[in-house]
Amino acid sequence: MREYPTQQLIDDIARSLSPDEFDRAAQNALAAFDALNTEIIERKGVKLACGEGCSVCCSLRVDVFAHEVFPIAHHIRRHFTDNEIANVMTRLAAHAEKVLPLTPFEHATQNIICPLLQNSRCSVYLVRPQSCRRHHSQDLATCQYTYDHPTDLDSPAAHDRDLFRALTGAMQQNIDAYSHLGFDHTIYELGTALHETLNDPASWQRWCDREPAFLHASVTPAGP
Ligand code: SF4
Repeated sequence: MREYPTQQLIDDIARSLSPDEFDRAAQNALAAFDALNTEIIERKGVKLACGEGCSVCCSLRVDVFAHEVFPIAHHIRRHFTDNEIANVMTRLAAHAEKVLPLTPFEHATQNIICPLLQNSRCSVYLVRPQSCRRHHSQDLATCQYTYDHPTDLDSPAAHDRDLFRALTGAMQQNIDAYSHLGFDHTIYELGTALHETLNDPASWQRWCDREPAFLHASVTPAGP
């Protein structure tokens, strides 16, 4: 099976002294992640129920790391029109207002739509986080059940176990690469972290200085 290129990623990150170089390292990591995903799907013949325009899972809480938030912010600043930026800022502000008073558990059980979803499509698809890329389903009925019963956190999973396990391993190697170099590896909630960095460019400098990048975003406690 394809190896996730952890050492290459560490070398790329260590050389990243500007937002452009940082974005290139992040893009390389995402490309390696997608290649692993494709290889396993093809080798195992995994039949996915996911399809273009289906966004049932975009109402789940999205946990991310700062190294995934900055490429999305850079992408929005570079590729969105002024009007699109104004719209996403409005949606992110409304999202933050709704999410920040909630505990992660309360958020995870309320079907709050991701503020980056537009017309049932991901508006940052090329730079979406690894947890979104890892998410897949082999059964739409199970997805619908999860959506209709958001407080039932024991509902059956619809993913392929081997694929999910391999992608989780790759995600962890990505986190370890940044962590190894001393970067913040707090688990943040996507919408509130993105809202903060688009409003506060100092978050990038804090991250470069190996400090916690976001001061106000919703945080998910790390597991035991
Ligand atoms: S980032 Fe994109 S794929 Fe992930 S939850 Fe938001 S809209 Fe969906």
